[in-house]
Amino acid sequence: MLSEKKCYMCSEIKPLASFNKNKWNADGHNSECRICQAIRRKKYKQTYAWKECMRLERNRRRARKYGCIIKPITREDTEKLLSLQENKCNECSTDISDREKRHLDHIKPFSLWGEHSIDNVQWLCISCNLIKWDTYE
Ligand SMILES: [Zn+2]
Ligand SMILES: [Zn+2]
Repeated sequence: MLSEKKCYMCSEIKPLASFNKNKWNADGHNSECRICQAIRRKKYKQTYAWKECMRLERNRRRARKYGCIIKPITREDTEKLLSLQENKCNECSTDISDREKRHLDHIKPFSLWGEHSIDNVQWLCISCNLIKWDTYE
């Protein structure tokens, strides 16, 4: 019986106790460690990555190491984008004029080295944004 395994998310070798139990897996444990699982479970993984990059922006050298490229986006930029999309979701054309119904999405996510700039964002409705994240998982 193995006493430790490699987490497929962070690639760290950790003791089995650091992995949640999963009876569907051959060794009875998840293939990702608890920490990675908690991170992945964040409802908006992208928001998490974004915040992380914003935090790193204070230290540009580190940010570059993480592959984050940040070009500040102003409120005017996002509003212009919204009117360009005619207040509609870029995927399903649902009306997103209601603030609660829309989410600014990074077309190419940070995890795939997307940049934070007006060229890499689009407005999506909440459900399209969630579906998108399911596909990336
Ligand atoms: Zn991990
Ligand atoms: Zn949509």
